[in-house]
Amino acid sequence: MFDYLVVGAGFAGCVVAERLASQYGQRVLIIDKRDHIGGNCYDCYNEAGILIHRYGPHTFHTNNRKVFEYLLLFTEWRYYQHRVRAYVDGKFLPIPINLDTVNQLYGLNLSSRELAEYFERVREPAPQVKTAEDAVVSQVGRDLFEKFFKGLTLKHWGMEASQLDASVTRRIPVRTSRDDRYFSDRYQGVPKHGYTALFTRMLRQPQISVLLNTDYRTILPEIKFKRIVFTGPIDEYFDYRYGPLPYRSVHFEYETLPTAGLPEGTYQPTGTVTYPNDYDFTRVAEFKHFTGQTHPLTTIVRQYPRDSGEPYYPIPCEESKALYQKYAALAAKEKNVWFIGRLANYRYYNMDQVVEKALELVEKELAL
Ligand SMILES: Cc1cc2nc3c(=O)[nH]c(=O)nc-3n(C[C@H](O)[C@H](O)[C@H](O)COP(=O)(O)OP(=O)(O)OC[C@H]3O[C@@H](n4cnc5c(N)ncnc54)[C@H](O)[C@@H]3O)c2cc1C
Repeated sequence: MFDYLVVGAGFAGCVVAERLASQYGQRVLIIDKRDHIGGNCYDCYNEAGILIHRYGPHTFHTNNRKVFEYLLLFTEWRYYQHRVRAYVDGKFLPIPINLDTVNQLYGLNLSSRELAEYFERVREPAPQVKTAEDAVVSQVGRDLFEKFFKGLTLKHWGMEASQLDASVTRRIPVRTSRDDRYFSDRYQGVPKHGYTALFTRMLRQPQISVLLNTDYRTILPEIKFKRIVFTGPIDEYFDYRYGPLPYRSVHFEYETLPTAGLPEGTYQPTGTVTYPNDYDFTRVAEFKHFTGQTHPLTTIVRQYPRDSGEPYYPIPCEESKALYQKYAALAAKEKNVWFIGRLANYRYYNMDQVVEKALELVEKELAL
């Protein structure tokens, strides 16, 4: 007999299981249908011995001290600050757009003040910023939108920026300084020994049992528990009663290359390079930048967005929000079941947001 069945061993499930067991002495069974813990943050060594992130590169970043301190219980950090370049007009330019982006793109020598004036001249104010296109064009004008965002959004979402929520592009800042960090949060990094090592430490407790390679539904008749914390897809939980929630997926294509002869011993200048207008992939990530690993080879991953496959990105538009609300209404009526995480809440969360939500759930609802 378990006190809790936790479905899904990603960040949401692992934090809930860890807190329930270590702080409240609860007996927890955590189940995942994959053959590993860690959900989409799982990392492992590939055949060449290079540490890779199986579901795309993950940089941890947060302003939430409580979340950062909580994770310090399970890992030391490599203090990595993520930088991204966009390959535009044959040049690798800083993204988010900053002073160097504009100067290098147009061959100018503007100061920060002059760049602010430039944005003021070219921006097209929108009475109401509704779409992903409005959010960019109203800040930096149409040319920068078309060069950096239009093609990338279309490839990534399979939809025009004008059909997507403003939230898609609004979270990307525009800077008039030369700061070229992708995130400006106070705490940034990757776990020193990898994400999987972090999750392993979280779950290494006598009160926690882990079951992998198992869809929870297949073993429900065989186990006894009092409560469920569900971090899988909410539409699947309700047998797709109102139809499937739409997601965008990604195909990850890995390649391992020798570094001999490459400038600085790396394939590309930064951890991630985006390709808004060239090729079918949206971005290329090189893991060594993230992990700091020294190795005569390097592994990169090219990301090709897809309509079908693993559910990665909830589609941010009105129809999908309305459909999710119908499932959320069903979820609210369930007894002794809690829904949390990116699939259960149908929401793109960063890792720190999931950790924060999971800590809150345990403290405010489950601990009562
Ligand atoms: C390409 C990509 C890059 C990202 N990069 C970053 C980044 O740089 N920084 C950042 O902060 N965030 C990043 N994220 C977001 C991050 O991955 C999520 O915040 C995090 O994984 C959410 O954790 P979760 O536990 O909610 O979901 P998940 O990690 O998806 O875990 C859910 C688990 O539930 C399991 N499951 C589902 N159904 C069942 C079932 N029926 N039975 C048993 N198990 C089931 C799944 O197998 C999965 O392991 C990225 C996301 C993507 C897609």
